[in-house]
Amino acid sequence: MPADPNEPCARDGCTFLPELVMIADTALPTVYCGAGCADYVWLERTLARAPITEDTPLAREGMRKLRDALDARREPADIGPLVEL
Ligand SMILES: [Zn+2]
Repeated sequence: MPADPNEPCARDGCTFLPELVMIADTALPTVYCGAGCADYVWLERTLARAPITEDTPLAREGMRKLRDALDARREPADIGPLVEL
């Protein structure tokens, strides 16, 4: 996906500008404002592909709380990575 530094973060509802990363001494924009949004979208896609189980409503509720927390940030870095690999 081509990244435009003037387009906001690719997570729905996020209005921050994409984070810049240094690649070979050049600052290039990513598609998300930071690790929080990138991880949220990854989690959302993972959940969407997962089989529905009795835990699914709990997972969806957790995602809603995460989204609210991300939407309430003043700075993209207020919430760091959500997933530890
Ligand atoms: Zn974002």
